[in-house]
Amino acid sequence: TGAEDFIIKQADPQELINAVSIRAERMRTLRARMSQDSLTGLYNHSTTTHYLESAITESNYSGIPFSLVMVDLDHFKNINDTYGHVAGDQVILGISQLFSHRLRSTDIVGRYGGEEFAIIMPGTTQEQAAAVVERLRQGFEKIHFSVNQTNFSNTFSAGIASWQPGDKIETIRERADQALYSAKQHGRNRYCIADDKEVA
Ligand code: GH3
Ligand code: MG
Ligand code: MG
Repeated sequence: TGAEDFIIKQADPQELINAVSIRAERMRTLRARMSQDSLTGLYNHSTTTHYLESAITESNYSGIPFSLVMVDLDHFKNINDTYGHVAGDQVILGISQLFSHRLRSTDIVGRYGGEEFAIIMPGTTQEQAAAVVERLRQGFEKIHFSVNQTNFSNTFSAGIASWQPGDKIETIRERADQALYSAKQHGRNRYCIADDKEVA
């Protein structure tokens, strides 16, 4: 990926191995830091956008759909205001861990903004994505968080859109965002599918 340093020929093999290993490890750490969100370890906004771009290119070529799910925590400002910012961070971490544990390793999970997440599900129709999201929704509302002996829980809303021929990043995002907006409008703690506005 480029020259970082040079080592004079006839170097001791063990020293050479050490020098390369240290640099490779440093590169891996740096790359991970650049692509991940520091609180959750999920992909950050720019990496998620990059994967979304790739998913679109791939589907436009293969014709095999993928789904995009936009997730936003419900009334999250209230959580911060009532229980404090540290408790709010706990919730963000909680939902991130739920997503990481429950989703397939081929799914891409990103922290898209503060309390907003994007999930890219390759080879998945919006109906299949909806079934997955519904299980996540039920799982998340059951999690009990606790601060100073007070228990509380939170919910999320989600908008689901699946790839359509000729999609661009803006068009599929717009449909998923619209569906998320519908889910919020219909009372939160639910998902909506783009276009037909189905509500769970
Ligand atoms: P809605 O159901 O309509 O989404 O309401 P909301 O309160 O979740 O939405 P709003 O956009 O009003 O508030 C989002 C809040 O999320 C405000 C912001 O302070 C908080 N937030 C964003 N990022 C973080 C974070 O990293 N940690 C914590 N604790 N709070 C965060
Ligand atoms: Mg938000
Ligand atoms: Mg919110």
